[in-house]
Amino acid sequence: MKYLGVIGYPLKRSLSPAFQQAAMDHLRLDVVYEAWPTPEDALQTRVTTLRSPAVLGANVTIPHKQAVMPMLDEIDELARRIGAVNTIVNRDGLLFGYNTDLSGFMRALREDGGFEPEGRPAVVAGAGGAARAVVAGLLDAGAASVTVINRTLSRANRLIEDLRPMATRSELRAMPEMYASWAAVMGACDLLVNCTSAGSAGFENQSPVPFDLIRPSMLAYDLIYDPPETALMAGAQKSGALVLGGLPMLVYQGAASFELWTGKQAPLVVMFEAARAAVETSVKGGR
Ligand code: NAP
Repeated sequence: MKYLGVIGYPLKRSLSPAFQQAAMDHLRLDVVYEAWPTPEDALQTRVTTLRSPAVLGANVTIPHKQAVMPMLDEIDELARRIGAVNTIVNRDGLLFGYNTDLSGFMRALREDGGFEPEGRPAVVAGAGGAARAVVAGLLDAGAASVTVINRTLSRANRLIEDLRPMATRSELRAMPEMYASWAAVMGACDLLVNCTSAGSAGFENQSPVPFDLIRPSMLAYDLIYDPPETALMAGAQKSGALVLGGLPMLVYQGAASFELWTGKQAPLVVMFEAARAAVETSVKGGR
């Protein structure tokens, strides 16, 4: 028997155990995927346990994606450029860090959103770990411009300075979260991505974006998957915009992690079914 788990805090609403376990069971792998709630002061101890031969690795989520990096032996080049790790692989006691959020985001954007970002203006709300992967993906794909709007402007400034080397084909800028910023950029924006927690379970009525500025010609992509429809998605739909939620990205990033741990092709259909069922249970149960 081998072990995997997701490290985060408080981790109450993680869907990863449900859909990763479904994938392991489907392929008859003798692996248990658990939730490992880990407060900040226990992170180093938790990471040390990953070196055991019984552990294949882990996912990392809020709030540890950046803090975990110096605790690992090697960081993949892409994860280093993004500045966040969401997947750890244990290879003979050495811990390797990867970021599968970027590929998960881009795959969902193209396959589920039908959107090719090359040459298109984009606006990203938020400047945390998820926003780093999203901005890196958009820059790598050659978006015409990427504007990062965040409540804490200094964090957005840090993000754009760190990712500036990737902006070879794109304009990259940060703005404070205020109506005037949104009004300045939304008129010429084809893609809006919410990478904040505003709208997630516990904060359902919040949206970082003023609804009146959403236009029918844009894709409004909310990374939040629980609830499956956020206030932003409902507002964007009313404005006639196309909308995409966070579930496809969640499953694609998890599938990429699965392949790193097991070397086997991830059973995507099984993972989607299990993830959807877990969201439904979470919504019905009132969490
Ligand atoms: P994080 O590193 O903790 O960053 C949170 C971001 O949200 C920060 O920019 C923060 O702004 C902002 N924020 C929090 N509450 C806000 C509010 N009330 N109003 C405006 N902004 C607010 O978290 P993360 O890892 O980037 O995750 C962000 C969201 O993306 C979460 O909802 C997470 O579930 C989702 N996510 C989804 C996937 C997926 O696969 N679909 C993957 C990763 C993350 P400040 O800097 O001002 O604090």
